[in-house]
Amino acid sequence: MKVSLPVYKDQVLDVEIMDLTYQGMGVAKVDNYPIFIDNTLPSEKITVKVTKTTKNFAFGDVVKILQVSPHRVNPKGRVYRQTGIAPLQHLEYSEQLKFKQHQIAELFAKVHMDDVEVLPTIGMDHPSQYRNKAQVPVRKVQGELTTGFYKKNSHQLMPLEDYYIQDPAIDHAIIVIRDILRKYHEEAYDEFHHSGTIRTIMVRRGYYSHEMMVVLVTRTKRLPMADVVVEEIQAALPEVVSVIQNVNQKRTNVILGPVNNVLAGKSTMNDQLLGLTFAISAQSFYQVNPQQTEKLYQLAIDQAGLTGNETVIDAYSGIGTISLTMAQHAKQVYGVDIVPAAIDNARQNADKNGIKNAEFVLGSAEKVMAQWQEDGIKPDVVVVDPPRKGLDEAFIESAAAMGPKRVVYISCNPSTLVRDVQRFAEHGYHINAPVQPVDQFPQTPHIESVTVLERD
Ligand code: SAH
Repeated sequence: MKVSLPVYKDQVLDVEIMDLTYQGMGVAKVDNYPIFIDNTLPSEKITVKVTKTTKNFAFGDVVKILQVSPHRVNPKGRVYRQTGIAPLQHLEYSEQLKFKQHQIAELFAKVHMDDVEVLPTIGMDHPSQYRNKAQVPVRKVQGELTTGFYKKNSHQLMPLEDYYIQDPAIDHAIIVIRDILRKYHEEAYDEFHHSGTIRTIMVRRGYYSHEMMVVLVTRTKRLPMADVVVEEIQAALPEVVSVIQNVNQKRTNVILGPVNNVLAGKSTMNDQLLGLTFAISAQSFYQVNPQQTEKLYQLAIDQAGLTGNETVIDAYSGIGTISLTMAQHAKQVYGVDIVPAAIDNARQNADKNGIKNAEFVLGSAEKVMAQWQEDGIKPDVVVVDPPRKGLDEAFIESAAAMGPKRVVYISCNPSTLVRDVQRFAEHGYHINAPVQPVDQFPQTPHIESVTVLERD
């Protein structure tokens, strides 16, 4: 039987936007059936054309905005909204901060945890040009090697020179590198035919150190004219301390491949955070918004309630940023990460900073946690900072079984945070202080927060 839906494809109708999804799309409802519409904001009245329907929801495009939200701003133009780079840039910054706070609160309310208080999001004074890392796809556009960003849900590269949310020195570096690649007739990667050479340019720049790392991701093992290309990059960009070729031969959306060749300089670059120095490899995770990261870590340190006598586990430790800052206020810290380069960096960083009470183990957090539990390690505090998919159930079981007084949960995805908080509750850990969102990703819908759980 064909189910009849409240709207049909190509229908044009007037609707009011009720809500914003976590991806930053406006939501209108017709008989409780949601239509997701890009570039719309709550309270706006619009004429929409339905572009796609499914059993449970539809997508539509704006035909006309009939009533504009008082919070709509348009400082930078369409390309920033159309690409994944700054999909919320049309929403006033103070409202972005409220949106993030409410998203977390709503997710807790949905599972009947209305009593969880969520504080106003800590934002930035200047919420642009904050990213210390760029990963820019390289494609051929109108016959020329071009850098830019993809239009959302498409394979169409939109050329860009000012990325708005990146360190302007990185934007400049990308133009310089692009022009050098053009000069030596390097071939841009072609996704469709899986041909060409240069897939991505990645640039990282230390917020404090101003050291720069350039990674050229290639489909091929050989990078033609590598010597001159690298020489010119170094000559044009004196901040560069490391030029790396990363080889990624697969047909995949994953940016980095397994092999790194250092073409010039070191295999790492340095930056500082909260007064410590960190070496960072191309493959290692490093927070992209250093100014907000310092606020986030300081909060996590304060919330951990350290006096100098505690044993701390920092699961998902990356290059040891949280572990090493906490080690200064604790008796012993154990860190674990699944990426070998990150653990190498973490050990190197402990040495670099003369920290002797931090130990790092390579492995999956869930397995290593079980091992630590077996070894009889009794942490007072467990810090977790997992990727978007959140914590493994086995990890939560081991963590709870070790009986720490506190769990400090740094989350980049409120949906999995809420799920994991519920699981911790089953083991007798509850939220006693308000959840604190910290805006790590202005102009985008990504939501970062710190939550503290305490044993009953
Ligand atoms: N706390 C660090 C890193 C957080 S990002 C910082 O703030 O810089 C999350 C980290 O989890 C990454 O370094 C990633 O390599 C690691 N990771 C992902 N899955 C993992 C797993 N199953 N076990 C351990 N680490 C994992």
